[in-house]
Amino acid sequence: MTTTYLLKLGELTLKGGNRRLFETALRKNLASLLKGSGASIDMRDGRFFVHCPESAQAKTEDALGRLMGIAGWAKTRIANKTPQAVTAACVEEGRRLYESGIRTFKIEARRTDKSFPLDSYQIRCMAGEAVTREFPGLRVDVHKPGGVIEVEIREKAYIFGNSRRGRRGLPVGTAGRGLLLLSGGIDSPVAGYMMASRGMALDAVYFHAYPYTSEKAQEKAELLAGIVGRYAPGLRLFPVSFTAIQTRIKERAPVSWRTILLRMAMMDCAEKLALGRGDKCLISGESLSQVASQTIENISCTQSRITLPVLRPLIGMNKEEIIAIAQDIGTYETSILPYQDCCVLFTPPHPVLRGNPVEAGTLYDALEAGPLIEEAFGGCV
Ligand code: ATP
Ligand code: MG
Repeated sequence: MTTTYLLKLGELTLKGGNRRLFETALRKNLASLLKGSGASIDMRDGRFFVHCPESAQAKTEDALGRLMGIAGWAKTRIANKTPQAVTAACVEEGRRLYESGIRTFKIEARRTDKSFPLDSYQIRCMAGEAVTREFPGLRVDVHKPGGVIEVEIREKAYIFGNSRRGRRGLPVGTAGRGLLLLSGGIDSPVAGYMMASRGMALDAVYFHAYPYTSEKAQEKAELLAGIVGRYAPGLRLFPVSFTAIQTRIKERAPVSWRTILLRMAMMDCAEKLALGRGDKCLISGESLSQVASQTIENISCTQSRITLPVLRPLIGMNKEEIIAIAQDIGTYETSILPYQDCCVLFTPPHPVLRGNPVEAGTLYDALEAGPLIEEAFGGCV
């Protein structure tokens, strides 16, 4: 038996002339997520359908649950285009609702095939009556229904019950590509996910300080990149060694400035990588005042040497909100593994809290880090 899923496009339907572009990206991403699952994609009249053998349902649903750019999706019944067949399918859907403990419902109907003998109002009445006749314990409530049965009359009749919520946003690849500064922490994977949900494809860079940081720390970043890549197909991770740069900072900079200067060097290096790759911006997991290096003054220092925009989707979010997303997307458990990244080992006991970008620039120049950055960056592409 083949199972069919119907996808609801949400925000995509607003895209007017660009709609084709968005649909093409959606299809490509969906194909990538469904790879190896045995499912196939089918698009008709602006509607996406996914067909799969019953044995592939779990994999297919997992992929649909990770696809950016859909408002929702539902397993659908396909019926002949007769009032009797449509009613019978609605009753079956009503049975599913009733057996899952739902006691109120409504029917929604759309008809693009105007040759169907009933209009959408008549379909709602006919199907609603049939369902309540069969299950007197189910009551119609159009305002706050426990369940919704949807009917779409197109080239075939589709009948589906409670839709699952999609990831929403826009298909990855429709908003250019950005370079994510991916640490092993909780925040940056979430930042990448959030930009992907606005349609941005991702590259990622991870700065390590081997042998001061363990190989495990890099494996953790690789695992995180893998998880974020499940939402952002095509994500590529570039690990970059920052050992020489950290050593230089230790040698030449005041202890209290270390973290800011390290961030400046990271941005500097990331910008070079991004420009080489054609990435249009940097993405970081900073959240205002979460730690000393993320006060607004220090953020100004951090970005003072680069010109590419730095997107910080978490800037106004609280830690609990960020953690909730990390748990939802499956990065949290990996992020809290104990392997430390370079920053933790490097953090001064009394960091500068409100750095001045001019002073930061002078200290940064004194590092003469240019050649070291060239070298670090050259080794990673
Ligand atoms: P995270 O949880 O993402 O590590 P954080 O709260 O620990 O964030 P910081 O350590 O101050 O914050 O880092 C701020 C941002 O700088 C990170 O969100 C990330 O984008 C970037 N960053 C920090 N360390 C690294 C690293 N080793 N490699 C790449 N990017 C990094
Ligand atoms: Mg960190």
